[in-house]
Amino acid sequence: MSFAVPTSLSPSRVDAFTSCPMAFRFASIEKLPEPPSPHATKGSLVHRALELLFTHPADERVGEVVEWSFRRAVDEYAVDPEFVLLGLDAAAAQAFVDDAWTLVQAYLRMEDPTRVRDIGLELRLEAQVGDLTLRGIIDRLELGPEGELIVTDYKTGRSPSLAYEQRRLGGVHFYSFLCESVLGQRPAAIRLMYLRSGETITAVPSEQSVRFITTRTTAVWKAVEKACTTGDFRPRQGPLCSSCAFQTWCPAFGGDPERARVEAPEAFGRLAAA
Ligand code: SF4
Repeated sequence: MSFAVPTSLSPSRVDAFTSCPMAFRFASIEKLPEPPSPHATKGSLVHRALELLFTHPADERVGEVVEWSFRRAVDEYAVDPEFVLLGLDAAAAQAFVDDAWTLVQAYLRMEDPTRVRDIGLELRLEAQVGDLTLRGIIDRLELGPEGELIVTDYKTGRSPSLAYEQRRLGGVHFYSFLCESVLGQRPAAIRLMYLRSGETITAVPSEQSVRFITTRTTAVWKAVEKACTTGDFRPRQGPLCSSCAFQTWCPAFGGDPERARVEAPEAFGRLAAA
């Protein structure tokens, strides 16, 4: 069975394919629905609160404006299917909101938003590599002390282990490639702010690291094309399996991937209708 080859890739999709080609097939090639996850939804809510905070002039990003930004993000998410479909009861919903607020407060301990010279929020950038379109969304683009470009990415999950860090930074250099292609200037630094641990990992992109992105992405792209042509998307078992929405149809767990196309929308559609 062959599949249509997608025409664009984002850093998270590159990571998804390298983590497990079978899960990539379900999510990105067949585009099967997935139930929302509390972690991802909480991350989206915190990103939205910080985005709203940064829509205010720098000197106003304190006190009540922080609370207003957070409240507004919570109100938006209260009616968003990504949150509603989590099906949280009142106590769990309150714990969810409390934890999201904890992350916003943790952010405020990491930097002073009144001193940030932001020039772009939730910036959608895309660039061509051959026939392939690379797409990414930058949480925040700002100017450093010397007017240099700095990319900041908020992370609401745990900070990575050393082994995992390199792959995360691969995604980061992806953004520097996009910046250089679209804005004509390579960022001087890319900062990953891990709100949960309070750690910031800073990467300094170089010509070599940006070249590595085009080489790596082209290699992943060739592998995606081959898998689409042959239909051979292999399952790769690992830590992601425990939270994988497609385990029922995964051959590594005795499932039949051909049934997912019919059964996943039924299973997760029922969830949406509940
Ligand atoms: S259960 Fe594991 S091996 Fe199977 S598709 Fe999901 S992530 Fe891949």
